[in-house]
Amino acid sequence: QTNPRIAFVTGGNRGIGKEIARQLALKGLHVLVGCRDEDKGRRAIEEMRQEGLAVEAQVVDVSEAESVRQMAEKVKQHYGRLDVLVNNAGIILDHGVSVLDVEESVMRETFETNYFGALRMIQAAVPLMKKHQYGRIVNLSSGLGSFEILQGLLGLKGSSSAYRISKTMLNALTCLVAQDVAEMGIKVNAACPGRVQTDMGKATASHKVPEGVPSPVTVAEGADTAVWLATLDEEGPSGGFFRDRKRAAW
Ligand code: NDP
Repeated sequence: QTNPRIAFVTGGNRGIGKEIARQLALKGLHVLVGCRDEDKGRRAIEEMRQEGLAVEAQVVDVSEAESVRQMAEKVKQHYGRLDVLVNNAGIILDHGVSVLDVEESVMRETFETNYFGALRMIQAAVPLMKKHQYGRIVNLSSGLGSFEILQGLLGLKGSSSAYRISKTMLNALTCLVAQDVAEMGIKVNAACPGRVQTDMGKATASHKVPEGVPSPVTVAEGADTAVWLATLDEEGPSGGFFRDRKRAAW
């Protein structure tokens, strides 16, 4: 392959997304760094360009259908294709709030980004992947979306339910999309980054950590499984939920 693969990372201006963008660019991919705010995106890519990386900022707010449509149109016009999509953008609005108290509006706002945002991006990306029979889609999920993992965690009870349900939905979406794109050379997987001290990770760190929750990892370690899934070869898995590069139950 002579031309570099084109990758898009949503929420690539900070946190785990920024590190995923960086690691993909270090592997030689041309990375479009998704940002809601153009200035924040520009600052993030300036840092990466100083390392000699091929990155560009691309505005997209995944909670807005029109913003996703405009982004896809620009990618189509400039590159005519997309090879890798990392749905990293995510929000948590209900730290420490019980499912008995969570506002319906908070649930809807969370789903709008964490679930519908990913779905919109996938629907926009698949047409740009399927014509050349290659695509890798990675959805940043969480162990908090896994019933299996949660059952082992005493003391978490019903808090952050909007966030947790949004990630369970994202895992389910991962399975369904994987089946529908299997014949198009596209692989779709979900990744749990572990507990990472980003802005989001710091906010959750102030809450009592239940027994059994793993220790925090660096942003580079947090990006690793997603980067691996984004660059899988033809033999690689599809439709799974992975932690530390290992399939996990959810
Ligand atoms: P951060 O809060 O540090 O960064 C979130 C990123 O998402 C920012 O770039 C933010 O943009 C962007 N974003 C938020 N909403 C939207 C939107 N509507 N459209 C486009 N971009 C948006 O989070 P992390 O880096 O910690 O998390 C990244 C992913 O990993 C998330 O999906 C999260 O749920 C998941 N995760 C994180 C864990 C952790 O311990 N940190 C653990 C498990 C999962 P802006 O700068 O404009 O706000």
